[in-house]
Amino acid sequence: MGDILFEIRVNNAQLEHCEKPHDFSLVLDRLTKKIIKNPKPEQRLFAKLQCSKCDGHIDSINASWYKKGLEDGRVKL
Ligand SMILES: [Zn+2]
Repeated sequence: MGDILFEIRVNNAQLEHCEKPHDFSLVLDRLTKKIIKNPKPEQRLFAKLQCSKCDGHIDSINASWYKKGLEDGRVKL
């Protein structure tokens, strides 16, 4: 349990110190946490996505909201 909390802390720190915006273009296997090259659409759907800049990762659903937020932000500019 402590390990999981530690992992979350490390991940949050990575995400925080990223030169934003994040680039969540890397698809991770949920279990092995290894990068899947050429992921299939269904793998992408339930995977974790990793930022190519900071190596922080988030769920694909959160990543799609993040991307949407960026797009919405761009519209205002
Ligand atoms: Zn990042």
